[in-house]
Amino acid sequence: MFTIKEQLDETPSIKTIRFTGEISATPGQFVMVWVPGVDEFPMSLSYEGEEFGITYQVLGDGTKALANKKPGEKIGIRGPYGKGFAIRGKRLLVVGGGTGMAPLGLFIEDAIEHKESVTAIIGARTAKELLFESRTRKAGADVHITTDDGSTGSKGLATQRASDILAKDKFDMMYACGPEMMVVGLLNLAQGKSVGLQASLERLMKCGIGICDSCALDGKHVCRDGPVFTDKELKLFEQLGKTKLDVTGRKTPL
Ligand SMILES: Cc1cc2nc3c(=O)[nH]c(=O)nc-3n(C[C@H](O)[C@H](O)[C@H](O)COP(=O)(O)OP(=O)(O)OC[C@H]3O[C@@H](n4cnc5c(N)ncnc54)[C@H](O)[C@@H]3O)c2cc1C
Repeated sequence: MFTIKEQLDETPSIKTIRFTGEISATPGQFVMVWVPGVDEFPMSLSYEGEEFGITYQVLGDGTKALANKKPGEKIGIRGPYGKGFAIRGKRLLVVGGGTGMAPLGLFIEDAIEHKESVTAIIGARTAKELLFESRTRKAGADVHITTDDGSTGSKGLATQRASDILAKDKFDMMYACGPEMMVVGLLNLAQGKSVGLQASLERLMKCGIGICDSCALDGKHVCRDGPVFTDKELKLFEQLGKTKLDVTGRKTPL
């Protein structure tokens, strides 16, 4: 059980909780968050080490209950679990869509601390929902913004911006977290431009440790074998961008 140190508003729909306590992790690893009496669900670590943190979109019962928790209250955390992002190469292109920036803010800080050059594309529906823009600029990344409605940055998808940037510049590796269709688009770009890709995937997770099979994807457990997969692994997934398992284990359209 960890004590909540603070709850911060990042955007109108996204909050960060910082905890009293320490969890060390590789960016991209996740924890299972237990709100007693409500639910347990996966969240990427958005801050690691002392006063580690999670950054979450308020969606349904679990995250609404989380948003109502006050500093001083306790919630359950187990982990960190899964495989995170690995720094490969010197010139990195990072693409985050919506709350996909939650683990990538931490990854960008880590990569820049390791003296890598980072170009970041941050995509959101609208200007107010951009996550970690100032954190990423402060870390020293070359930041590009896209919004669906054009309220700031370039209007359109982060994948289009990535395509434009890749046409002009060379990178050793791309990193992505966000909607699965964004990951599919970046995988196509990576294959066309001969650049590597590491992308974090989301599936329903209950145990987080490869036992319950809720997150099964073409013979892999997203919780244990991922959630970060390389381009070589991603292109073997026949169901990528197509289906996921629902709470009863039935295949449903993504
Ligand atoms: C590895 C991983 C890391 C994640 N990191 C973040 C993060 O950093 N920030 C963030 O905002 N969200 C993150 N998510 C998604 C987050 O787990 C869901 O948004 C959350 O569980 C919603 O719960 P809810 O009760 O509020 O909403 P619900 O109404 O229960 O569900 C809303 C949607 O969230 C998804 N979801 C619900 N329960 C689970 C579950 N147990 N496992 C996976 N998905 C679920 C489903 O797609 C569902 O349609 C992550 C998911 C995974 C798999």
